Amino acid sequence: MPESLDDTIVCVDCGGRARLMRTWPPDYPPVAGDIVTYQCPDCDERLDIVLDAEDDLGGIPPGDAV
Ligand SMILES: [Zn+2]
Repeated sequence: MPESLDDTIVCVDCGGRARLMRTWPPDYPPVAGDIVTYQCPDCDERLDIVLDAEDDLGGIPPGDAV
């Protein structure tokens, strides 16, 4: 689990707190380029976020997962 992955983000629609949906197996945490989904409890909006390669993903170098 990358420490830089936020549990909550600000919902772009209503400004609420969208919560991270953990949809991946425990052995395969998301890496740069993967899409993670947040869901806002206030407006029920789903937000797909592409993980940026510039993010610190807990020591996993981008492109090293091939
Ligand atoms: Zn919202």
